[in-house]
Parts: sequence; structure tokens; C-alpha cells
Amino acid sequence: MKKRDLICTKCKKTFPIERSYPRCDICNEPLEVERVVTGKINKGNVLNQTILERYADFFPFAKIDKAISFHEGFTPLVRPLRLASELGIKDILFKNESQNPTWSFKDRGTVTGIQQAISLGYKRIGTVSTGNMAVSVAAYGAGVGLETFVLVSTSLPPEKLNPIAIYSPVLIRVDGDYGRLYFDSLEIGKQNDIYFINSDVPFRVEGSKTIAFEICEQMNFEVADYVVVPTSSGGNIRGILKGFEEFRLCGLINKVPKMVCAQASGCSPIYNTYSSHAEVISRVENPHTVAHAIENPYPPSGNEVLRRIKENGGTFVAVTDEEILQAQRRLAKIGIFGQPASAVSLAAVKKLRGQNLLDENDTVVCIVTGGGLKDTTVFGRHEAKIIDSPLEDLNELIGSGRQGYNRDERR
Ligand SMILES: *Cc1c(COP(=O)(O)O)cnc(C)c1O
Ligand SMILES: [Zn+2]
Repeated sequence: MKKRDLICTKCKKTFPIERSYPRCDICNEPLEVERVVTGKINKGNVLNQTILERYADFFPFAKIDKAISFHEGFTPLVRPLRLASELGIKDILFKNESQNPTWSFKDRGTVTGIQQAISLGYKRIGTVSTGNMAVSVAAYGAGVGLETFVLVSTSLPPEKLNPIAIYSPVLIRVDGDYGRLYFDSLEIGKQNDIYFINSDVPFRVEGSKTIAFEICEQMNFEVADYVVVPTSSGGNIRGILKGFEEFRLCGLINKVPKMVCAQASGCSPIYNTYSSHAEVISRVENPHTVAHAIENPYPPSGNEVLRRIKENGGTFVAVTDEEILQAQRRLAKIGIFGQPASAVSLAAVKKLRGQNLLDENDTVVCIVTGGGLKDTTVFGRHEAKIIDSPLEDLNELIGSGRQGYNRDERR
């Protein structure tokens, strides 16, 4: 295996791959692992393979520790029967990341992050998160027996703390500016030999590449026109784009899809920067959206996402809470129960179709980033139609047809 460097996404300065600090010394922009230009997919049966084995050529690991895997990835790509014609596009498919061991795509970047931490000899790992990433890192850290530090903000409610605490990490509620914690944690990690696997660090981005790899395989290497990604820190969309680019460089596909960076209008720093023709992300004050998993007001990969998606020919979009909730209900009816952040991709497709940025010739893949049971408080935002009936009256009620049934929204 050829040794790869870390490269600054902005100034292109190179750093050794062993470096644990994930940003450039000069411009403070994110680093990434050098692109793979020759590689192939390893043969084998996905029923007993891991993503680390199947796509080993695309990772800079000298040795793979199969035992750290919880069998993340290899998630379904779902094609509903009628939704494309309802939307007026050629085809729409959903990459259902809720089918991961801790119910979000974060597991892919956690396994690659931990593999790197182990390769570098770390005994302690950590993350800064309010939700899915905290759960994922806590679970995998427990699985491999590394001391795992999870830093959360004091405002985190118990229904979000408990699913982290079950894995018994060192769970610390930090009183202070949560936005600063991302950067401070990296410094604290440096001083205390803790490998922090935060949202957009290079090895988390490496894990997200496998979403693109699987989509290519699942579509027989015919590439969709657009891939829509609910975006917060920007790590996942960077990884997916990098995955498609590496497959193209390796000759496995002949074009790269256009990426859509989809955000919630209550917290859309990347979209705002794009639509105001600015070059540098500014912080969103008082973010507020039902899509909590994508509520990062100052995304650490924001500038890079802006640069790369513009180059890629993709676009940016923001959708309202109402549009998100409607999309969440629609997704449920194709057998996918995503959390509000996940539904942002379908809501974005509807919006782009309405603006004629998508048309009847387009094939679109939506990433459903995480599962709906992770966020039960949102249930209160949906109307729950429930009929009460005494047992004696049940037959008559059903026979009368009065209970109603909406046939419009099917698969
Ligand atoms: C983390 C997360 C996102 C955002 O991913 P980024 O890499 O931070 O852009 C979107 N949806 C869900 C469900 C997530 O957990
Ligand atoms: Zn730089």
C-alpha cells in the first residue's frame, strides 16, 4: 500500500498521516487524506464482510482490525414505487443509513476513526456531540475497550443523555461556549493523548466515502445525476463526494454526481453564505430547527463544502421545519422512518423540483442520515389520528367506512 499524506483542503500543504490534529497549521482549514487513484473493490460476500475489508484499497491502513467492526454500512438503497412520478423526476432512491448499528451513518466514520486511533497506538478516544456521534463513539469505544470521553453541553436533555450513558463512556457535561468546544477539545486531546473523532476530522470523512462506494455498487456503477445530503458540520458530504471522486479516478465510474448540500432554514450557515455570494462562513445566531442533528451554527467544514460543491457543479438549499416534517411523514410511507434531519433530503428534492432545478430526466439519491426513534420529542409535532371505539361497536365502525383511509400517499 502506498503511503498517503494528509493535505490541507485549502492551501494544499501536506502533513504526515500520523498527525492527529485534524486542521492546517497555516489556514486552520480541515485536512484530508490524499486521494486514492488506483484501487479495486475486494470480492467477497457482504453478509460476512466489513466495509473496512471490502474497500481496503481506499483506506490508508496498513493493517485492518476486523474485530472493531459492528457491521456498519452495507445499508439498503430503497427505490419507492411511485414517488418519482409524484415528484416529476425520472427516479429517486433512498440510502437508508438508519440501518446502522447505532442508527446513523456516524458509525462508518467512527469505525475508520477508531481504526486510525488504534494504528497510532492511542488508548483513549473522544468526541464532542449532542446526539448521534456521541452515541456512536461511545458504543464503538466500549466495544474495543478504549477509554472514551464524550463531551456534551449542559443543556442536553435526559432522553439524549441516556442513550449515550448506556455504553458507560466518561460522559462530561461541559458548562461553557459549546461552539468553542470543538476546537478546545482538539487541544485538550493533544495534551492528554486522547484521539478526538469529531464531526469532520479526516478519518471520519474516510468512513463517509463508503456511502458513495455502496451507492455505486447498488446502482451497477451507473451514476445518479444528484446526491442530496443533509448537512451540518460538512464532514459527511465531503466524504461522499470524495468517495465518488476516488471511484472515478480509479476508473470504476465515469462521472461524479452533483452534490446537493441540504440544510434547515433555521440553521443554514452554508446555504446563507452561498446565497449571499460570500466566500467565508459566518456563524448563525440563535439557530432553531426541528432537525437538531444538523443544527451546527458554525460548521467546521463550511468553507470547504462551499468551495468543493461549487467546483462540483452541485447546489445548496434550505428547507423549513414544516417542509421537513411533511417529508418525514412521506418517508414513513415508503418504509423509512428517519429523524427530521434525515427527511431534509426529500424536502430539498421537492423544493428544487419546484424551482425547476431538477427536471423529469433527473435521477436523484437522497441520503437518509439517521433513524426516527432517536428523536421522540418530534412526535408531538405530527398529528396522530386515533379513533376510540368500544369493542361492541367495532364491527359497525369498520363496516361503515367512516374511519377513512388516505390512498393518495403510497409507495
Ligand atoms: C451528523 C448528522 C448529520 C450531519 O452530518 P455532518 O457530517 O455533520 O454534515 C445529518 N443527519 C444526521 C442524522 C446526523 O447524525
Ligand atoms: Zn492550509
